[in-house]
Amino acid sequence: MELWFTEKYSPNSGITIKVKQELAHVKSKYQEMSVIDTYEFGKIMVLDGFIMFTDKDEFIYHEMITHVPLFSHENPENVLLIGGGDGGAVREVLKHNSVRSVELVEIDKMVVDASKEFFPQVSVGFSDKRFKLHIEDGIKFVKESKDKYDVVIVDSTDPIGPAVGLYQRDFYKNIYDILNDDGILVVQGESPYYTDTKKAFVNLNRELKAVFPFTRPYFAFIPTYPSGMWSLAYARKDGKEIKGPIRKKDFDTKYYNEEIHKASFAHPEFVKELLK
Ligand code: SAM
Repeated sequence: MELWFTEKYSPNSGITIKVKQELAHVKSKYQEMSVIDTYEFGKIMVLDGFIMFTDKDEFIYHEMITHVPLFSHENPENVLLIGGGDGGAVREVLKHNSVRSVELVEIDKMVVDASKEFFPQVSVGFSDKRFKLHIEDGIKFVKESKDKYDVVIVDSTDPIGPAVGLYQRDFYKNIYDILNDDGILVVQGESPYYTDTKKAFVNLNRELKAVFPFTRPYFAFIPTYPSGMWSLAYARKDGKEIKGPIRKKDFDTKYYNEEIHKASFAHPEFVKELLK
């Protein structure tokens, strides 16, 4: 018998992947998680029916959500991640020698535990001495934090359930306050293609623009996210229109490089229209 996993992108389309076996199925207070092993993408973490990442293409998202802001900053030392309990973004941030501390605020310990158990190559950074984990709501954390950060990265689920507030203006205002004057924020930015993700894409870019003097979404090709065309929203507190790397890469990557960094900020005509 063949088993297939389907994630719907709209009532009439989606992605379907042949499953070898389900390795785990658990529920927390916040969400339902499944870890499946597949023929094409290796192991996949699924939360509430949505693919979070796969063994095969996680490097694209994790490299792009981290190296674009970190290579746009003169000297990133203190980095804060909201969400991203799998640790993929932590692993990439720790490749930067300038980084002295990486704090991760994840609301759901279940995600951290599952990543440690099933995705050791993704959660590898959790044992680094520069890393600190907070299991709590990212919205509350940024509201109450007295610390300052050079880069803040919001690596969250879609704007449903506990993540709704991670796409709202008040949250971005609180992040603005905890960033240093040359600080940079990057937010998981949804896709401008399908109806639901398009709405989220437009809303979050509008909210960010209301708070930061320079904002611009950039793009990466991620095969297992809706439409493959995925955005990340970039915002600078100093208002400088920097859209390229200002430092040289001195470690290996599989997707990110200087040309990709610059090119990722180019917008197709329909996206320009959406952002007007
Ligand atoms: N980029 C991935 C995606 O959307 O496909 C997201 C990966 S990561 C697994 C997203 C994480 O955000 C989840 O583990 C979820 O528990 C966490 N999260 C959601 N709302 C949160 C909140 N309010 N505070 C902290 N973490 C949150």
